[in-house]
Amino acid sequence: MQELESFKEVISSPKKIVITTHHKPDADALGSSLGMANYLLKKGHEVTVITPSDYPSFLHWMKGNDDVINFEDKNSQEKAKKIIQKAEVIFCLDFSCLSRLQEMASSVEGSKAYKVNIDHHQDPKDFADFRYWSTEAAATCELVYELICKVGDRSLIDNDIADCLYAGIMTDTGGFRHPNTTKNVHLITAELIDLGADNSKISRLIYDTNSINRLKFIGFAITRRLVILEDLQTAYFAISKKDLRKYHSKTGDTEGLVNYALSLDGIKIAALFTEREDGVKISFRSTEEIAVNKFAAAHFDGGGHKNASGGKSKLSLKETTEQFEKLIKQDQKTLFNQLELIHEKN
Ligand code: 5GP
Ligand code: MN
Repeated sequence: MQELESFKEVISSPKKIVITTHHKPDADALGSSLGMANYLLKKGHEVTVITPSDYPSFLHWMKGNDDVINFEDKNSQEKAKKIIQKAEVIFCLDFSCLSRLQEMASSVEGSKAYKVNIDHHQDPKDFADFRYWSTEAAATCELVYELICKVGDRSLIDNDIADCLYAGIMTDTGGFRHPNTTKNVHLITAELIDLGADNSKISRLIYDTNSINRLKFIGFAITRRLVILEDLQTAYFAISKKDLRKYHSKTGDTEGLVNYALSLDGIKIAALFTEREDGVKISFRSTEEIAVNKFAAAHFDGGGHKNASGGKSKLSLKETTEQFEKLIKQDQKTLFNQLELIHEKN
């Protein structure tokens, strides 16, 4: 509570503020950042949103997008570093440890600014002066909404801010389908619609703006790159750099692909292995009972949420999937343990 008072005090007079989020921002990361930015601008602050990388074009509609600085863009990096150095307050949204900023981490870590961390991931690292954190929240956007209300500024939320926050809640709940879609999610979503969020426009802008290349890529991945391990109730995609090049893949084109594997009847664990310049990036998804974040943390230098997590590997794509298959077999008991217990009870 005392911390909330100190936070209120900090944002009560104009400051130089930087807002950042995790590498390869998704709708919750960018929506919470731009939602917060637009709110703080209204309060008279000087605000810059700096992302550690680019992000999908289906998020470019958010208000403030044109002023976002991409730290990975070599032409902007020096400018970004100067702005971070001068910042009095740094907001770190939708991530729990600074390593998720990748190349940008040392600049933020080295800054003396008052740091704010708003997040809903497990095991937050202690790097912030004020932390507004809950793993119960479906999205960071949900927490941003709550915090603005707690500060007493609900009336400052206009339709642009509401649009940004709605987008993050919509996507982090998988379109209001995942188990994290709580009563609170629906209540806050209703509030956001009341404040002007255009829900049907936002779902169209995010889900229905595919390029034909992306649709062809999804078709190719499902027909040629999907491996189903029926006995292990597991299915995964392995996508090579060559595959991505062939379909002129852009940032965001692989987003959601892993869900096709999880959508198969009888499949409880899904993974997507994507070969990148610096190694293999992995997305894990699971059904309610199975904690893939623990699996990701134990074997793939990762983490995240119980049913949606990620990790990485420095092995080749083939070696990584071989290792994955071996580990799934090996960890079968632990992974499915909860499930067996549930079945025994029934
Ligand atoms: P996605 O598969 O959509 O990239 O990520 C799913 C979830 O896992 C997100 O909440 C994301 O923050 C988390 N996540 C993804 N990659 C990593 C990682 O390398 N480390 C950790 N700790 N979390 C990750
Ligand atoms: Mn999130």
